[in-house]
Amino acid sequence: MEIKDKNSDNQKPLRKVPNKKIAPKPPKFNLMWLYAILIIGLLVVPSLWGGNTGKQIDFQTFSNNMLKTHDVDHIVAYKSGDLIMAEVYIKKDSLSKPRYADVNKPQRGIALSNNEGPQYYFTDASYESLKQSLTAAEKDLPDAQKTPVKYEQGKENLLSNWLVQCVIMAVLLVGVWLFIMRRMSGGTGGGPGGQIFNIGKSKATLFDKESQVTVTFNDVAGLEEAKQEVMEIVDFLRNPKKYTNLGGKIPKGALLVGSPGTGKTLLAKAVAGEAQVPFFSLSGSDFVEMFVGVGASRVRDLFRQAKDKAPCIIFIDEIDAIGRARGKNNMIGGNDERENTLNQLLVEMDGFGTDSGIIILAATNRPDVLDSALMRPGRFDRQVSIDKPDLNGREQIFKVHLKPLKLAEGVDPKKLSAQTPGFAGAEIANVCNEAALIAARQNKEAVDMKDFQDAIDRVIGGLEKKNTLISPEEKRVVAYHEAGHAIAGWFLEHTDPLVKVSIVPRGVAALGYAQYLPNERFLVAKEELMDDMTLSMGGRVAEDIVFGKITTGALSDLERITRLAYGMVKIYGMNDKVGNLSFYDPQGDSQFVKPYSDATAELIDAEVRNLIEQVYARTKELLIKHREGLEAVAMKLLEKEVLFQSDLEELLGKRPFEHRTAYDKFVNGDITLTPDNNAIPDNLINPEVSNIEKGDN
Ligand code: ADP
Repeated sequence: MEIKDKNSDNQKPLRKVPNKKIAPKPPKFNLMWLYAILIIGLLVVPSLWGGNTGKQIDFQTFSNNMLKTHDVDHIVAYKSGDLIMAEVYIKKDSLSKPRYADVNKPQRGIALSNNEGPQYYFTDASYESLKQSLTAAEKDLPDAQKTPVKYEQGKENLLSNWLVQCVIMAVLLVGVWLFIMRRMSGGTGGGPGGQIFNIGKSKATLFDKESQVTVTFNDVAGLEEAKQEVMEIVDFLRNPKKYTNLGGKIPKGALLVGSPGTGKTLLAKAVAGEAQVPFFSLSGSDFVEMFVGVGASRVRDLFRQAKDKAPCIIFIDEIDAIGRARGKNNMIGGNDERENTLNQLLVEMDGFGTDSGIIILAATNRPDVLDSALMRPGRFDRQVSIDKPDLNGREQIFKVHLKPLKLAEGVDPKKLSAQTPGFAGAEIANVCNEAALIAARQNKEAVDMKDFQDAIDRVIGGLEKKNTLISPEEKRVVAYHEAGHAIAGWFLEHTDPLVKVSIVPRGVAALGYAQYLPNERFLVAKEELMDDMTLSMGGRVAEDIVFGKITTGALSDLERITRLAYGMVKIYGMNDKVGNLSFYDPQGDSQFVKPYSDATAELIDAEVRNLIEQVYARTKELLIKHREGLEAVAMKLLEKEVLFQSDLEELLGKRPFEHRTAYDKFVNGDITLTPDNNAIPDNLINPEVSNIEKGDN
């Protein structure tokens, strides 16, 4: 079966430039070589330096202990610096005398470990004075027995000169340093791998005509408006006259804004593929280095390169890495470097004229943290928002990613898109790939609907943990917990219809999870939020009612409830006492100084507590009222592990508040949700509304 790793070819911009000739790789640098060289150097060099001049003595010792006892074979004298060095060679047969024991042993050094001599040395002011001293010491001896002195004109012990030693040491150090630097900079003294020498250079990857970017606008599904906007940008660059003739100015930049995985990078890559102009691609974090000033210098370099290549497009992914609002949170030292980089970017964007033919595309999923100077017209004139795809968008994306797969009969992108509410493009790509892998694992000929369903489950809940051992008692707690959610959801008016409850342990959903079929909605009413919180509280309340004790299993529910409650009181102005105020603080500016008084802070906390208590009471009342249903669902869950809507209908009767969801409307008819995987929706979830229990165990 042919399975294509879809993610691999559509991921972040490639860091390679295919049109460049690839130079043969230099042999890989192995740090061990360097160590070896250093160790050998350390061993050999000192022994060379030390030479073999023997042990230092003074003339008196020499004269009394050696000369007078006729032990000296000969003396070699030479000039060393300003002095005369006299090396003393002891006669071979005298060496065995005890007084020479300390020099009569192999000497330091490798090749020099014999005892040829000299064994001693002493110095004198000049050759003449040496001669005189010797003559004086040997004046009683007949000429034949006088110690021969050889004067060696050229033999200056260069290596023992400290100046020479210093020079050699310095040369050695510089050599090693240069060697390392060359290695770090890719062996060729430059190139994109350059670190130290190229540190101020921009790290942008250039795609031009010869580079083969295979992504086109056809690979980007949905996102019609966004495509329209960026296509226009491509058109600006191709036919600037068309726009400037009418007096219009070409925009300088467009900011792609959207949640992670919605296809921002993909869109930019499509621009690179379609625009017949050079395309520089880099990420915001590429400007960041541990040295101060590097970011700004990289920005300058990028724009210099871009000006040379104009008309061209620069794409900065994750621009929030450098584009965060300046001057905030500087109390703890701040990050001046980032500010400098941003300032430089602002300056450069202002600096090039509208007719210079450079257009900047940038992508971020945090537009709220960006500096307002960056967003003003004249810099990023256009903001293109890329939302999570709707039903139709998902279908289109599925179509793109299903194309390379071998599909079995009955795989319907429409059904799949209905089953994946809240999924972004990246998750859809992941589902398709997982499905293919699951099918391959089972040696199937083609990927069928069941594989897709398993893949969706896996993307939501993580890998099924078949071997996790959960004690029967814990299993009961999990079953009642999930049943609590199911019952609360079933009898509340504003909750999304439940699709599936599972107590199969999985990677992310460690203990169990419930899936819902959400309506795609943009405004959320207070009642809906209350119902949402009640549904989330269902698990904990069920444990309390049934077992009289509570567990850590409700962690993620409580987190969610707390977040919603604070949201209602503090942000959405949905509390009577706090009033219609919003302390929305996306940038975390009020980390240290709250924008409200202590009294308000206390009020907010009290109201949140109050709200959550209300929710708890409400949930308890609801579950006590439907205690029988709770027991029934929990028992069934323990028996079957996974329950679908149809099972719940059997146990609880029809849901009192029937909602028609996007999917229902879409397929136009009554659908029974059954465990039959080839029938319709089993696994529908909006991650925002799901209850995924993360247990501590
Ligand atoms: P981001 O918005 O985080 O930059 P990417 O562009 O990197 O997201 O998207 C990740 C992957 O998701 C893409 O490589 C592609 O496979 C898939 N994807 C996302 N959106 C779409 C889309 N509209 N059409 C097709 N594939 C998409």
